[in-house]
Amino acid sequence: MIIRDVRPWGGPRSDVEVIDGKIAAIRPHDESARTAGDVDGRGRLLFPSFSDVHVHLDSSRVGLPFRPHTGAPGVWGMMLNDRNNWRTAEIGLPERVVGTLERMIARGTTRVRTYAQVDVDCKLEKFEAVMAAKDRFAKQADVQVMTFPQAGILREEGTVDYLEASLRGGAEVIGGIDPCQLDRDPVRHLDIVFGLAEKYQVEVDIHLHEPGELAVFSTELVLERTRALGMQGKVTISHGYELGSVSEAVTRRVIDDFAELDVAMTTIAPAGRGQLPLVDLVAAGVRVGLGEDGQRDYWSPYGNCDMLDRTWQLAFTQNYRADHLIEMALAIGTMGGASIMSRDVPRLAGVEDRPGLGVGDRADLLIVDGETPTSAVMDRGTDRTVIHDGVIVADGLALV
Ligand SMILES: [Zn+2]
Repeated sequence: MIIRDVRPWGGPRSDVEVIDGKIAAIRPHDESARTAGDVDGRGRLLFPSFSDVHVHLDSSRVGLPFRPHTGAPGVWGMMLNDRNNWRTAEIGLPERVVGTLERMIARGTTRVRTYAQVDVDCKLEKFEAVMAAKDRFAKQADVQVMTFPQAGILREEGTVDYLEASLRGGAEVIGGIDPCQLDRDPVRHLDIVFGLAEKYQVEVDIHLHEPGELAVFSTELVLERTRALGMQGKVTISHGYELGSVSEAVTRRVIDDFAELDVAMTTIAPAGRGQLPLVDLVAAGVRVGLGEDGQRDYWSPYGNCDMLDRTWQLAFTQNYRADHLIEMALAIGTMGGASIMSRDVPRLAGVEDRPGLGVGDRADLLIVDGETPTSAVMDRGTDRTVIHDGVIVADGLALV
């Protein structure tokens, strides 16, 4: 396959040859070499495809009518809002998950790490719906399913059994959540999560909404277990909204520890000032990925399956104006997340690095209209072609 006339990361017009799912050559654009079978880039921009590494496919209401937000504040209140309503949605959960994933792929996301809530109420229903969608789109996207105790592990008897069942059923990552605030027993919570991770040889992803000092304390317990179990490179902290709010010295120490233990970080591009500084994380070599979190669900009305929109949100909430920073946001939304899901892709090696479009890299690509990478993020064009593993999977915002 030859992709004719695209501009990789906004660079000069080029022709990209793809063989066996990998980028085999990138040459200056040659109009005279055009053949009927070429993919016509029409001078559009070429980026790696997006990686949404923090999405709750299992709670999505994308495609359904908007409903008034009825959640009570706090994780437990929101969880109950979902628990009380998800079964009576206008269409069944399996269809909702499929529709959401389809829409994500159509808009340029071909790598997904999704949560699948497991608890004594929904049991394995949500997990199975997510696994079925993963199978259905196996040729269009890489989907990693995380079994996730959204309702805590210790509050309701029997949760651990369902977590184990999902791990036997193919979950690739195990989640934990607010070990201090939700279960109020952080050591036990994390010992269970890391114990199951070790038993089933899966990665860990800790969903952390806790405030300043408490978040740092929970993180220290996570780092302690990462070190003790030799899980370097296999642990992610999600959100960590206030991990950077305690003091400059603590922020520096957390970033250095993440870098040393190769702990990754995902952000959903929230507003607020307490986060770890993104530029410092990237500069330290910490893998950072981007995600949409819930999509128009019982937790919030945000999320539209479009990671280009979420990249804009990341640039906006970080107050980025300089092109190199907005391009870094794009690199985080694409290869940053990819490097959390896989060891076999190039990592973002610094603020100015633009990985993912080199000879030998897998052809997971997005072609999109725009003048420069910054303009693509600002304008969020709809003239998109999506390539997964060397094959066109979507064009013009629809699957092919
Ligand atoms: Zn989340």
